[in-house]
This record gives sequence, structure tokens and C-alpha cells, in this order.
Amino acid sequence: MASQVNGHSSGSDAQGGKSLREDLQEFLGGEALLHELDDLTKVNPVTLETVLRCLQARYAADMFYTSAGCTLVALNPFKPVPQLYSPALMREYHAAPQPQKLRPHIFAVGEQTYRNVQSLIEPVNQSIIVSGESGAGKTWTSRCLMKFYAVVAASPTSLESHKIAERIEQRILNSNPVMEAFGNACTLRNNNSSRFGKFIQLQLNSAQQMTGAAVQTYLLEKTRVTCQASSERNFHIFYQICKGASVDERLQWHLPEGASFSWLPNPERTLEEDCFQVTREAMLHLGIDIPTQNNIFQVLAGLLHLGNIWFADSKDEAQSCQLMDDAKCSIRTSASLLQLPEDPLLETLQIRTIRAGRQQQVFQKPCSRAECDTRRDCLAKLVYARLFDWLVSVINSSICADPDSWTTFIGLLDVYGFESFPSNSLEQLCINYANEKLQQHFVAHYLRAQQEEYAVEGLDWSFVNYQDNQACLDLIEGSPISICSLINEECRLNRPSSAAQLQTRIESTLAGSPCLGHNKLSREPSFIVVHYAGPVQYHTAGLVEKNKDPVPPELTRLLQQSQDPLLKVLFPMDPEEKSQEEPSGQSRAPVLTVVSKFKASLEQLLQVLHSTTPHYIRCIKPNSQGQAHTFLQEEVLSQLEACGLVETIHISAAGFPIRIPHQNFVERYELLRRLCTRTSPGSHSPSPDEGHSEWSPHTKGATLQPLLQDILHTLPALTQAAATPGDPAEATPVPVHCGRTKVFMTDSMLELLECGRAQVLEQCACCIQGSWRRHRHRKQERQRQAATLIQAAIRSWLARKHIQRMHAAATAIKRTWQKWRIRMAFLASKELDGVQEKHVSQVPLPLGSLLLPQAQTSLLEAIIRLWPLGLVLANAAVGVRGFQRKLVVWACLQLPMGNPSSYAVQTAQEQAGVTSIRALPQGSIKFHCRKSPLPYADICPEPSLHSVTGFNQILLERHSLGHM
Ligand code: ADP
Ligand code: MG
Repeated sequence: MASQVNGHSSGSDAQGGKSLREDLQEFLGGEALLHELDDLTKVNPVTLETVLRCLQARYAADMFYTSAGCTLVALNPFKPVPQLYSPALMREYHAAPQPQKLRPHIFAVGEQTYRNVQSLIEPVNQSIIVSGESGAGKTWTSRCLMKFYAVVAASPTSLESHKIAERIEQRILNSNPVMEAFGNACTLRNNNSSRFGKFIQLQLNSAQQMTGAAVQTYLLEKTRVTCQASSERNFHIFYQICKGASVDERLQWHLPEGASFSWLPNPERTLEEDCFQVTREAMLHLGIDIPTQNNIFQVLAGLLHLGNIWFADSKDEAQSCQLMDDAKCSIRTSASLLQLPEDPLLETLQIRTIRAGRQQQVFQKPCSRAECDTRRDCLAKLVYARLFDWLVSVINSSICADPDSWTTFIGLLDVYGFESFPSNSLEQLCINYANEKLQQHFVAHYLRAQQEEYAVEGLDWSFVNYQDNQACLDLIEGSPISICSLINEECRLNRPSSAAQLQTRIESTLAGSPCLGHNKLSREPSFIVVHYAGPVQYHTAGLVEKNKDPVPPELTRLLQQSQDPLLKVLFPMDPEEKSQEEPSGQSRAPVLTVVSKFKASLEQLLQVLHSTTPHYIRCIKPNSQGQAHTFLQEEVLSQLEACGLVETIHISAAGFPIRIPHQNFVERYELLRRLCTRTSPGSHSPSPDEGHSEWSPHTKGATLQPLLQDILHTLPALTQAAATPGDPAEATPVPVHCGRTKVFMTDSMLELLECGRAQVLEQCACCIQGSWRRHRHRKQERQRQAATLIQAAIRSWLARKHIQRMHAAATAIKRTWQKWRIRMAFLASKELDGVQEKHVSQVPLPLGSLLLPQAQTSLLEAIIRLWPLGLVLANAAVGVRGFQRKLVVWACLQLPMGNPSSYAVQTAQEQAGVTSIRALPQGSIKFHCRKSPLPYADICPEPSLHSVTGFNQILLERHSLGHM
């Protein structure tokens, strides 16, 4: 007990600190109830650590959905949870009077959007932004939402409308495997990463029934067709054909088993996404028949062979580069699969056509080897991009409703998340730019929601402290000069520029931006953009070319010559297009770069989002291995950062991240009032929040108000005490605001309150310690006195006991002796009577001078026989005296009788004292007495020679007597 007290008072640092922190944590959040908190912005304090712990606790308790303000965080369970998506649950959310009061769920979001549409309150249209890494569950979430709408957005009376909704849902779901096969690839981060963005618009009629849908895609990463980073793969579809084609199909598409293609890296890795049959079936459901499918795969095989075409360096600039030996077969196969004439194909790759002059004269210039490679890649990318767009249009035509048949919509944005790879280029710049834009949209929305909460609590506080990501957006897309404008200018000027020059230009022109950085250690020319989710280094090499994405008109013309039915559809001989394309390159019309096209589509998307009520679902992958029951904090943290949830937390931190209900606040900090009376007796400073505090008469804890006010009065004193002398802390207002039901404060204020509390507790602890020590001392003193008393009592009792026993022994001996003496006297007198009768006339001789008469001899003999009794007799204090005693001693000791004058017998009794040696007691004597405090009675009496120590053996020292 005492050591514990000391432990605390001396501040047994680590342990004491930890327990205090835990205590605070328990007070703020309630550790045991962490998993029951279904809103991340309500964890206390709102920090990354607590947010992570809350998510982890919920994940462990099989609670996969958590709100985060206006966002829903969806953790991927990586295991089937059928009860979470049952039609009964859908109906429960649909029928609930307030679905948001039920547990967080995607159905709650779905129902909310649906009710918003029904309410017809502007903006009527809704959008749900589902984001997260690939594999985090976006498609699953979208699918569940689709199923939900198929149930709720169908007329219960009309079977027809229900069927339409189901058919549309089925088609949208079928579009997923197709779009993923053509648009997803295995990246360093993810085996099934979407390389495009997707916006699905669910169209509802005036009775809020689903009548159709439309899919819009964004920025397919088409460079992946021809260029893959090491350890990454091309789009899944290429692997699916190579692995899943039948023997006949292999023959048809020239894909022999084990053939190697330079655009098909890591073919040995088999992923679950490589399921050709699933893709084929989904295509069939979307209305793409088997011949068309075969046509698509044949074209794709043609592209794979195109990738094996390699050129040798030309010795003469005027001569075109020749094919490498292995490539001759590849160009033949490719031409046959794409149904292109072989020679024009080779020529288009080798020779550039230039139109110049007023007459648009045509010049032909042989390309360098690098240029040939670029043209080959360009051809493949062109075909693939058009094929992807065509697929989207096929999907759309199968699900789209008549424009007159719908009035409102719910949009589902399945958007790629923030990306940062070891090498980032234009694609990542565009993706991250889109994420910055969406983040800004999200932050604005979140701030609005936060402000609403403050307003409900009666606080007037604007987020003046919070800086959003406008600076980063200014750097990327700002006017007049930004990264986008600089890259576009390079394309427009069409001047030769090196990667290093572009880096210098960006750095010098945008040097003032706080979001632009530079990696001095990087050998390759690059620049760093500090995004909201972290800094990303972009390499400038190839940036301008990628942005230009030049498509030489002769390539398009070549493809238009193809006899392949699919390529004919993809590259129609459109006279309008022809007239547009021909002057390109030479005209001064603004060049439509990748960035400018992307920016335009992004703005269009944002316009749609701005015109709708947004809802956010952030899908999180608890681990990248896809394992159930595994929550890896680092991985979740990086995703929380990338999806802007960390930002949300920062926004909360910029305001008042600590919100404590009045009752709890009073319970914990009531003791601060003692501090106030001690530090500034009698002084009542004004309330720290007099300007803001509003005490509603209907506040539940009206009785708490005086207490609360009292506590708040202590705060200025606390702040002053904490401020160092000369610090202007006095001037700054105390960062505490009283809402209608909660006390809002900053982290620093909480720290201060906790310090004050610790101070009071320390004083109390000191007081308790003092009292305890005093009490303990008194108790010990009383116990000591009691022990002494008991010892004394026991000693005297023992002494009395001993004396009594001695007394009894002496009495017994005395009685026996008297009996014996009487008997002896009687015997002696009897014998003497007989002798006297015989020698009545003889005068007795003095003892010692005469020989012993016969009578005495026989007496001696009798005594000798009775020597043990004699021993007693000799030592007895009373009784036989003089000669008789001596006789007895002689007899007992069997001394020679011849010459009695040679020695003298002298018994000790003749002198003073006792002739015995008493042995000292061995060891301690323990007195165990009933009802006595045993520990204190267990005492060894002092071994003293004079004290009475028990009944000892009486020894007669024969040796020493022999010398007497
Ligand atoms: P994304 O579309 O984000 O790439 P998916 O939606 O395809 O990810 O999810 C990847 C996998 O995770 C799914 O195949 C499924 O097995 C699992 N999954 C995702 N969400 C859930 C869920 N709510 N319940 C069960 N499994 C899920
Ligand atoms: Mg997906």
C-alpha cells in the first residue's frame, strides 16, 4: 500500500504517465466502448491514433461500416457476410423513419440519396463518390447499391418496372468484368488496379423508378498497352486471351502456347482476374456476340504481335530503318490479324508524311529508329483506346434509357485513388489532379457539415484557421501559369525541349508556390508536387510527348484501310473527320492535349457533382493480401491519408476536436474548483466564453450550470499559471466554448485542464499520504506499547509460576524428608535402645577419636544400601545434622574409611548458598498466550544468570567435592 502511494507521488514516470493517459482516454472515448462509436469524428480526441484504433476495434467486432462525419468508411471484410446485404436488411433501411439513426451502412447512404430524390428539394440529383484503392471494395459497394436501388427504386405494384430495374442492374453488373478486363491491370500496389475512372448515372423517372443508366469513363491509361513498369502487367485482357484461348482460337489468333511477347511481361503470374470465360460471358450478356468477341480478340492478338516489331538503326538518314530479322514474321502476322496490307503498314511505321506549303505539298521523311518505335506504339494505343471507348458505348447502348423517360438521377463515381509510384508521369499527374479536385469538393462539403454541427450547438465559429488545397490546385491548373499551362505551352510551341529544360522552366516560373518541391538527389529531371495526401515526384522525361499524344494522320488513314469489321467500326471513313484531321499539325488551331482534354472532362464531372448532393463512401482495404480478420494499421493509415480522411481529422483539429458532454465535463473537472479557491481566493474572473456561451433553459443538465460556470472560472487562472512570465498568454482568449450540450475545446486546453486536475490530485495525494503516515505511526506506537505490556505480564506470570512450582517441590521434599526422618529416628532409636540395653555401663567415646562400635557399623551399612536417599539427605537444608550427615556423605561417596583424619567432609549447607549448579536455559522461550498480539509477544527473554529460568537438573559435582 505504502509503496503504491510512493510510486505515485514520486511519479514513477512511464507507468504513472501511461496509466494517466489511459485514464484520460477512457474518460474521453471510453476504451471499452471504442468499437461502439459509429462516427469517427466523435472519437475523443479526434486524432489518427484513436481513429485507427476505433476502426480496428470495429473491424474486430465485425462492424465494417463507420461514419466519418458526412462520409461512410467501408472496411473490406474479405469474407462473405450475407446477413449484411440481405433483402430483409434493405427493406429495414428503406422502411426506417430515420435511416441515418440506424447503424452506418451503404444502405443508409443509398436510402438517404433516394429520399433526397423523393423530397424534390434542390439539388434533387444525388451523387455517391466511392473511392479507394483497387480491391478495397468499390465495385462491391457499387454492386450493393445497385441491388438496393433495384429493390427500392422499382414500383411495388408494377412487375414490369421491377424487371426493367433488374435488367439494368444486371447489365451494369455485367459491364464490370468487361471493363475490368480491358481497363484494369496488375500494378505494384494492386493486382486489380483500375486504370480509368467511371461514373455511372442511374436514371429515375418522376415516380423515382429506375429506367436506365449511363456510364462515363475517364482517362484510360492507354500507355500501359505498350509500356509497363517492371513487375507490373499489361491490361488483364491480353493475359486472358493468351491463357484462356482454345486450341482453335490459338491457331486463329496466332498465339501458340509459350509464345513470348514484349508487351506481355510477367506472363507466368496467374491472377484470379485472368478468367477469360467470365469476360466472354459478360460480353455476351451485354449483347456482344461470339463473332464480334472473336474479332476483338483477334485485333488484340494483332497488337501483341505488333509489339514484337523491332527496327534496326539506319546507317543513312535518307534511308528508312530496316526490320530486325525476328520482326519480319511479326509484322506479317500482325498485318494479317489486323487485316491491314503488310507493306503500307511497314511503310507507315518507317516513313513520316509531312505536308508543307500553301499547296499542302506532301513530303516523306524516313523516321529514326526511336521514331519508328513511337509510331508503332502510337498505332497500338490508338487501336486500344478506340476499342475501349467502343466497348463503353456498347454498354451504354444496352442500358441507356430514352432521355425523356427520366427526370432525376443518382450518380455513382467509382474513382481511382491518389497514386504515388517510384516513377510517376502524366497519368499520375492527371489522376492526382483529379483527386485534388475531388478533395477540394469534399473538404468544402465537410466544412459545411462541420459548421452545421457548430451551429446546432450554438457556436459561431468559422473555419478561418483551415487552409484547403487551393494552393496545390493553383500550382497544377492555375491561371495564367501552372504546371498544366507550361506543359501545354511546350506542346503548342512544338519546339524541341529536353526533360531538364522543362524541369528548369517549371521550377523557375512556379518557384513561389509552397506546393512545389525539388528532389536534389534525383538523377532524372523531375519536380515534386506536395499533394494533400503527400508529396509525389513526377519525372519530366516524356511528359510533353505524352501530353501531345500525337496521332500521325497516316496512322489513322492506314487503319481506315483495314478490312477487319471491328477496325472498320473503330476507324470509319468519315469525310468530316478526314477534313478535320488532314490539316492537323500544320494549322494554328489550339492543340488538344491530353491534359486539356482531361481538364475539360474533369470540369464537366465536377459540374455534375456540384449540381448534386454529394455522399462519400471511402473503401478501405485492411490488408493487401485479401485476408479476413487481418487489420494492418500502416496500410489502413496510408489509405486514410489518400482518401482525405486524415484531412478530415485535421479539419476537426483546426476547430475544437475535443467535445465533452456537460455531465462528463463536470464530473471530471469539478475538483478544479479547489485549485481556484487556493490560487486566487475570493477572485472570480469572468467566464472565458462569455461572448459565446449560451445557456439554453431547456438544457438537460440545468443543475450543472452553476458547477460548470465555477469550473470555467478557474480556466483563466489555470492559463495564467501555465504561461511563462512575460508570455502574452493572458491576452489570448481561453480556447473553450460551451455549446448547448457539450463543451468544445482544443487539445492544448484539454492538456491544461488535465494539468490542473493532476495538480489537485497531487495535493490530495499528499494530504492522504500525510494522514496515512500519521495513522500508521500511531498504530505502530500503540502496538509497541501493547507488546511491552504483554511481555512484562508474561514474564511476571512465568516467574510466579516458577516460584510456585519450586515452592510445591520444596514442600513435597520437606514432607517426605520429615516422614523419612521420623522413620529413621524411630529405627535409630529402636536400634540404640537395643545397644544401650547391652552396654548400659559403657561411657560413649567422642566421635572420631575411637574405633566405631558394632552398632555404628551396621548403621553405616544400612545407610550405604540406601545411598540415593542419602544423597537427598546430605543436600537437604534441614534434617540430619553433624555426624549423621557426614556419615551419609561418606557412605554415598564410598570414601575409604581407614584413616578419617586424612580428609574432612564438609557439606555445602554448613556454609552458605546452594551446592548445585543450575544449567542455563538453551534457546529462547516462546510465550504463546491466547488473545495476545502474537508477533509482539514472540520475544526472547534476556538470558540472565540471576533470573529464574525453569526447573533444572541438579548436579552434584563429585569432582569438586572430592577436593573439599
Ligand atoms: P474494387 O472494385 O475496389 O477494386 P472489389 O469491389 O472488386 O474492389 O472488391 C475486391 C474483393 O473484396 C471482392 O472480390 C470481394 O471478394 C471482397 N469484398 C469487397 N467488399 C466486400 C464486402 N462488403 N463483403 C465481402 N467481401 C467483399
Ligand atoms: Mg473494382
